[in-house]
Amino acid sequence: MAIRIDGRKISGIIKDEVRDSVEKLRKEGVEITLAVVQVGEDPASTVYVGNKKKACAYTGINSRAYNLPESVTEAELLALIDELNGDESVNGILVQLPLPPHISESRVIKAISPLKDVDGFHVQSAGALMTGEPGFLPCTPAGVIELIKRTGVDITGKECVVIGRSNIVGKPMAMLLLRENGTVTVCHSKTKNLREVAKRADILVVAIGRPKFIDASYVKEGAVVIDVGIHRNEGGKLCGDVDFDSVEPKAYAITPVPGGVGPMTIAMLMKNCVAAYRLQKSI
Ligand code: NAP
Repeated sequence: MAIRIDGRKISGIIKDEVRDSVEKLRKEGVEITLAVVQVGEDPASTVYVGNKKKACAYTGINSRAYNLPESVTEAELLALIDELNGDESVNGILVQLPLPPHISESRVIKAISPLKDVDGFHVQSAGALMTGEPGFLPCTPAGVIELIKRTGVDITGKECVVIGRSNIVGKPMAMLLLRENGTVTVCHSKTKNLREVAKRADILVVAIGRPKFIDASYVKEGAVVIDVGIHRNEGGKLCGDVDFDSVEPKAYAITPVPGGVGPMTIAMLMKNCVAAYRLQKSI
């Protein structure tokens, strides 16, 4: 039986660590504040924003909500971001994606100060990750690294295969595994012989956005399998990109969906809010 990597438990430990840091800072007279900007009332976004606010309340981080109507113009949103960039009491700025089609996500992300970019999506954060400069790590891939390490798996020298090359998951995931001294291969929809490449992996990270796509035939005996995918079927049940029942008997360790990578994203966001304060004070 594979180890089931418990993302709920590990994210709880990280949130407790953040809570301790926030409490210590508060005793020194420092408040950590996250500005959460939501445009429109997309139900999924409202759930995500609600979960982020709950995590802030738990860790002692102040959350300031900015709910803008769907009709807000890009200029108005950029003006708000400008104001938050200049507000010294705000440490982190999070704009919930997706944005309505009349607003450029790329322009909005670029407008956030790289010192407050707690989602880690700004090009400067991406560059810092690439070069090893101080900066924010995107929350989901950073959470995956925590899951692997806290399961006691040493990444150094391991064959790591990442399936997916998106800017928010696949590419930063590959950079982080490289930074941890893994030997990294990145696969995507044009990869030839995906099954053979995936089977080389000691650590397989799957972020393709296709329900239960990866079955046991893609997995080497004894691999660590991390499933980033999230899908909800018609019955409302969640599953990942990995066919858990097929892969689990072959893996050394595997993340379930739900309860694997999902809870880590918010925990890492909380960690980034404290990192933001330190980055802003250069400590
Ligand atoms: P995305 O932007 O759609 O990227 C998917 C990637 O998978 C692309 O690079 C694509 O290749 C590749 N791909 C698609 N079909 C493939 C195939 N048949 N074989 C090999 N590669 C294939 O998705 P994403 O934003 O990275 O998200 C991936 C999944 O993770 C989704 O299910 C998403 O909901 C989930 N997610 C979860 C969290 C979390 O907190 N747990 C956070 C973010 C995302 P091309 O580049 O060639 O098109």
